[in-house]
Amino acid sequence: MVVVGAGMVGAACALYAARAGLDVILVDRGPVAGGTTGAGEGNLLVSDKEPGPELHLALLSARLWGELAQELGTAVEYEPKGGLVVASTPDGLTALARLAAGQRAAGVRTVPVDASELRSLEPHLAPGLAGGVLYPQDAQVMPTLAAAHLARASGARLETGRTVTRVLRGADGAVRGVRTDRGDLLAPAVVNAAGTWGGEVAALAGVPLPVLPRRGFVLVTEPLPRRVRHKVYAADYVADVASDSAALQTSPVVEGTAAGPVLIGASRERVGFDRSFSLPVVRALAAGATRLFPFLDDVRVMRTYLGFRPYLPDHLPALGPDPRVPGLFHACGHEGAGIGLATGSGQLIAQALTGGTPELDLTPFRPDRFAEEATA
Ligand SMILES: Cc1cc2nc3c(=O)[nH]c(=O)nc-3n(C[C@H](O)[C@H](O)[C@H](O)COP(=O)(O)OP(=O)(O)OC[C@H]3O[C@@H](n4cnc5c(N)ncnc54)[C@H](O)[C@@H]3O)c2cc1C
Repeated sequence: MVVVGAGMVGAACALYAARAGLDVILVDRGPVAGGTTGAGEGNLLVSDKEPGPELHLALLSARLWGELAQELGTAVEYEPKGGLVVASTPDGLTALARLAAGQRAAGVRTVPVDASELRSLEPHLAPGLAGGVLYPQDAQVMPTLAAAHLARASGARLETGRTVTRVLRGADGAVRGVRTDRGDLLAPAVVNAAGTWGGEVAALAGVPLPVLPRRGFVLVTEPLPRRVRHKVYAADYVADVASDSAALQTSPVVEGTAAGPVLIGASRERVGFDRSFSLPVVRALAAGATRLFPFLDDVRVMRTYLGFRPYLPDHLPALGPDPRVPGLFHACGHEGAGIGLATGSGQLIAQALTGGTPELDLTPFRPDRFAEEATA
């Protein structure tokens, strides 16, 4: 099989397919993790998923990340540190408790934390918060390292600096491989793991898939001794993730890293592939983070970067075989959760490719689920 895209998702597809016994070629027009994988954070979250198919995928993925951590944990900076979601008002806390109850019913471990306990978990949190919920299953990896190590562990033939220009199809319409700017790679199965460019790769096979970019900025502080222990974010983040608005949304997301810098997100806006720096966005992120952790007021930001989340209209990835093109599989459109969801996605693709029954129902992720007008 050929996997198009050597980001986190393509690397996970390569790993699980190789472990299922397939010969894999992993091809990317750039380097490994040169797309959105190299431009995000590495949270592996169940906490921000509402009950439904994405949460099932997140739980499967969390289990698989835990298994991979046994072999690759230190190399990929895997930290099972847990997530702490905090609410600033009693109403916000009621809404958070309601979300947590639904998640618990779906198999998520949740621990209510009242206002007086918050600072025993996070001593530097701002005073006066209403309370929160601790999610012990939330974890973190370093995404570029994770993609590189999974690609290497797969044993796949890695073809970087090679652009796919067409998906080759036989007279019967079935996939025969891909054409690249440096010759053809023949295979009876092709996996579209091209992230934000998944719509373009689908078009190379003659089918529409409406993947769009959703821009996000991250602030990186100077290295600090560990003062932020969990991934900490405000309860409104979940609503922002699920929002359909194209306008700018920011809600504070703060986490320490093994290397020392604190990462601050998260902004979301639909502005195409605009790479220009935005002071208002960065300001809003910094203000949100200092509201949660006042000590950040005295900390310098070393740099900011941005990336484009691969976004599909219903916020679910396209995952599984494409009924319109035999031999074409999609694993793209994971939006702001592609690092976390990569392992489950890779596993499900490998199961679908080898003719087994995928352990999750792929129906909600069908790549042909969008009406013609959405894809146009
Ligand atoms: C600011 C920000 C913060 C984020 N934080 C998190 C987080 O904490 N946790 C989380 O889970 N997710 C997070 N994400 C989302 C996550 O980064 C993405 O969902 C994930 O990286 C997508 O991975 P991918 O492998 O699908 O795509 P990519 O990493 O973009 O890989 C796709 C690859 O396809 C290649 N490609 C495209 N077209 C072609 C072609 N024609 N020929 C050959 N190669 C091609 C590209 O070069 C690219 O390398 C964040 C994203 C952003 C922007």
